Amino acid sequence: MTDIAGAGVPQGRGPAPSNEARVPVPPDVLAVFRRKPGRALMLGHVHPDADVLGTLLGAGLALEKAGWSVVYGGPHAAPSVLDFLPGIERYTRLARLDGRFDFALLTDCPNPARTEGLIDQARDAVATIVNVDHHPDNRRYGHVNWVDASAAATGEMIHALLTAWPAEITPDIATNLFTAVHTDTGSFRYSNVTADTFRIAAELTAAGAAPSVVSNALYERRPVDALGHLGRALSLVRVSEDGRVAWLALPHGTVPESFVESEELVNYPRSIASVRVACLLREVNGAVKVSLRGKGDVDVQAVAARFGGGGHKNAAGFTLTAPSLEQATRDVLAAVRLAVSGAGQSALAERRGTRATWGTETVPHAPRAPSPE
Ligand code: AMP
Ligand code: MN
Ligand code: MN
Repeated sequence: MTDIAGAGVPQGRGPAPSNEARVPVPPDVLAVFRRKPGRALMLGHVHPDADVLGTLLGAGLALEKAGWSVVYGGPHAAPSVLDFLPGIERYTRLARLDGRFDFALLTDCPNPARTEGLIDQARDAVATIVNVDHHPDNRRYGHVNWVDASAAATGEMIHALLTAWPAEITPDIATNLFTAVHTDTGSFRYSNVTADTFRIAAELTAAGAAPSVVSNALYERRPVDALGHLGRALSLVRVSEDGRVAWLALPHGTVPESFVESEELVNYPRSIASVRVACLLREVNGAVKVSLRGKGDVDVQAVAARFGGGGHKNAAGFTLTAPSLEQATRDVLAAVRLAVSGAGQSALAERRGTRATWGTETVPHAPRAPSPE
């Protein structure tokens, strides 16, 4: 469900007084939220995760409080593991859009194709499309676009938006936004976490989000048979000879789809110390869905882009049509190995190189800061 493993991002936007938005919110985004209340659509992306759902629900609940009538939905239903998000029962699978909307908000959605055609209907049925996202490869498909790749989660951006609007952050809104930030940062562990992430989390906690309730709901509600499924899945993890690539190729039917949806299986191969890139490949409806996670220098988004997908530097994905899972695995591993050795070589050249600057002095070898990823 988590969708970012954290690219190296500029650290810290600096301290700021608490009820002032730290991230500058573009005036054209604010202007839409400050309009006379009308009808709004909170439109999600395929296989919605906590970042998209938490932000759509957080923004939508605030709009309702301001007098708007709000419809929530997207191409797929919310996964049951997120059934604790306040307001989630309002989010439905939409086959088509009914009626007109004054504006549609899309969050965490870099590519209009990830609405499975709903955005095309929205072009006729919606006066203004607002696109708020933290994916660096966002296509800027809205009338109003706000893309901040330094945000750890879209949850941070919607927090800034509600603060600047201003809207009261109720406990329900706080829980939604806290969960968005929590999941996209791997429970505040990835390198996308900044001091601001914690400041925002602190404000959301003060506003009524309960971190332990969110963690329990996300990670302590496995059904009894889940550990058996986990055991079967983990027995399929393989590691390359040099230890730098680990993968898990999951044939259809090995474990139930609902189990895969509720677990971040790719995190297990990723957790091996030597691994630079972890891959999860799973057969779904005759295609192979691939999740890539990188650590350090390797840009897995570039690998995903070669296969028509996208994501972040350290977390990306795509779907492949391949004659078999085995063939897909071979093709993906070939591209991943190339990326790993490419990243290794450029790091080596940099080190051999040559001289790097440290402060005002030039030294043969600048100490590298340990990378959290
Ligand atoms: P996942 O591995 O599905 O958790 O996705 C990781 C990241 O890759 C997320 O930021 C997704 O938005 C992105 N991503 C996954 N699949 C695709 C795809 N088919 N096209 C574009 N981006 C994708
Ligand atoms: Mn997402
Ligand atoms: Mn996200």
